[in-house]
Amino acid sequence: MKFVNPDLITPIYVKARNDMPWPEEEQAFYLLARDGLFFCRNSRFFQSCVPARKGPGELANQEAFLEIQYPKIPQPLLELAVGFFEQVKQRHGSEAALLLTWNYRVKQVRLLIPRQRCTVYQGYYSTYPAGVHYEMPAELPEDAFIFGDIHSHVDGPAYASVTDKDDEHHRPGLHIVVGRIAEEPPDFHIEATVDGMRFEVDPDHVLEGYSRRTAVSEKCLDPVEIVDLAASQNDRDKDVTVYTVKYPVKVEYRSGKKNQEIPSHKSRSKNGPDPS
Ligand SMILES: [Zn+2]
Repeated sequence: MKFVNPDLITPIYVKARNDMPWPEEEQAFYLLARDGLFFCRNSRFFQSCVPARKGPGELANQEAFLEIQYPKIPQPLLELAVGFFEQVKQRHGSEAALLLTWNYRVKQVRLLIPRQRCTVYQGYYSTYPAGVHYEMPAELPEDAFIFGDIHSHVDGPAYASVTDKDDEHHRPGLHIVVGRIAEEPPDFHIEATVDGMRFEVDPDHVLEGYSRRTAVSEKCLDPVEIVDLAASQNDRDKDVTVYTVKYPVKVEYRSGKKNQEIPSHKSRSKNGPDPS
């Protein structure tokens, strides 16, 4: 089917059916099909159809964009998330992850602790966090919708690692990384993914604020346990320890209630240099 537009010098054909006749009368034309946009030629000695690197030059420009309207993460909830990451670090030396959920009924952001597997390398002198992989909950609390996740890089910088990008490729939503959690405030890095594309997000757009981390309750930490400690230490990968965090535990806060602070972290001057 020929798409007719007076601005187009080179015509565009839309291939809506497999048996669409080849436009023999055109010297050159674009073909839009399920597999993308193609540039085609009818020459004296050949007919060709190759993927087009760009659309017709007569058309207007269009750049990829993402405009977000995510709810802001309440400050007490973010402070609890950082507290949770620090407590997991103190207990296991590992990264950890939380899911961001939106509750339709009460219109509130909430955190969920998913079932997750954290990898830690055991060195001669200390342990090194190596990654976290979580499972999407099979059953969500009623009226809840997952719109993103937060995970820690422990004392490493906050950025989207290659592993993060792979993990998040098919998880559209907001992805927050908390790094350098020994410092206060820690580093935050936020990206959003949609249809396989990543966009950096200004923290001011999705974080209500942050002052100091607060401790999560024992109820939240109790389900964090070590499993398969020996089983994972095989010949090929003998330094790896695997932890599993049980699922699911809601991390909630009550407005007006003073949460307990976690004292064991370095303070970072807001005027000081950022870590590279
Ligand atoms: Zn990461």
